[in-house]
Amino acid sequence: MLSVILPAYNEEKMIKKAAARIGQVLAGAEIPYEIVFVNDGSKDRTWEEIEKTAAADPHVAAICFSRNFGKESAMLAGLAGASGDCCAVMDCDLQHPPETLVEMYRLWEQGYEVIEGVKHTRGRESVMHRASAGLFYRMISRAVKINMSRASDFKLLDRRAVDAMLSLPERNTFFRALSSWIGFRTTSVEFDVQERTEGESKWSTWSLVKYAVKNIVAFSTVPMQCVTVAGLFVLLLAVVLGIQSLARYFSGRAVEGFTTVILLVLLIGSVIMLSLGIIGYYIAKIYEEVKGRPRYLISRKIEAGKELEKESEGERAGE
Ligand code: UDP
Ligand code: MG
Repeated sequence: MLSVILPAYNEEKMIKKAAARIGQVLAGAEIPYEIVFVNDGSKDRTWEEIEKTAAADPHVAAICFSRNFGKESAMLAGLAGASGDCCAVMDCDLQHPPETLVEMYRLWEQGYEVIEGVKHTRGRESVMHRASAGLFYRMISRAVKINMSRASDFKLLDRRAVDAMLSLPERNTFFRALSSWIGFRTTSVEFDVQERTEGESKWSTWSLVKYAVKNIVAFSTVPMQCVTVAGLFVLLLAVVLGIQSLARYFSGRAVEGFTTVILLVLLIGSVIMLSLGIIGYYIAKIYEEVKGRPRYLISRKIEAGKELEKESEGERAGE
């Protein structure tokens, strides 16, 4: 069975549509499936919509978070709650085309364990967004040593890969990169990012910046090495300026005034503060990991096949 995991945050208009479209495509291809919605603490009527959809469709299961924990946590909760032999993760705004699921499933049947959805085209985006996403993925690709420029969260994982993913102890996960990191027999499928039909993207520019910083730090220690490099730079400057100042002092032409001193203090001060900031960020992340809080808290759950159970109860009552 294929479990399709759909993280949903304020997607009230998309729930029914997504379940219907995915169900139609998978039933058409004769693939046994379940759909696992993960309501990531939505503030609108998403959970009510999920309950309604689950009551009408026995293929639908759902998990409800006690508050918004973010898409990464929602995807992991979905993977943990899914019971399929393989699990697919996709956006519930249908920007990831359900038809590609069939293609992925066929590859899984051929024995692939990780099938990555790769963006063929990125859909409509602003120039700024495209440029900063480009920079971010170049840095991440360096860090994980895999080309991630077209990576997405649209993936199909075999049970073995899912279990490997769930066994990773870290709180701060980056699904997109971890799916490559775990290895396994991997292949990829290209897809075109579709237009969003309802609602709007949950990502503001600021949240994307935070996302980028968080994930770079989660995957790489290069920023900390930058501190060392900055230190070396300042040391070099210190040697050059030191020799120059001493030479001037002994030749009786010492530099006048405080301008140089002020400039140097400011320069070194800011380098130190920035460095402390970078190191502090890593320490904060270590602190978060050490606390070992759960990645998410579940407040409610709906098992798949509720409708079927009710039916069989009805039958028994009728006997
Ligand atoms: N999402 C989520 N929690 C969040 C933000 C987003 O579960 O805190 C879900 C959202 O419901 C959608 C998917 O993640 O199914 C992708 O979000 P969105 O479409 O806003 O991102 P974009 O496609 O613009 O990158
Ligand atoms: Mg989207």
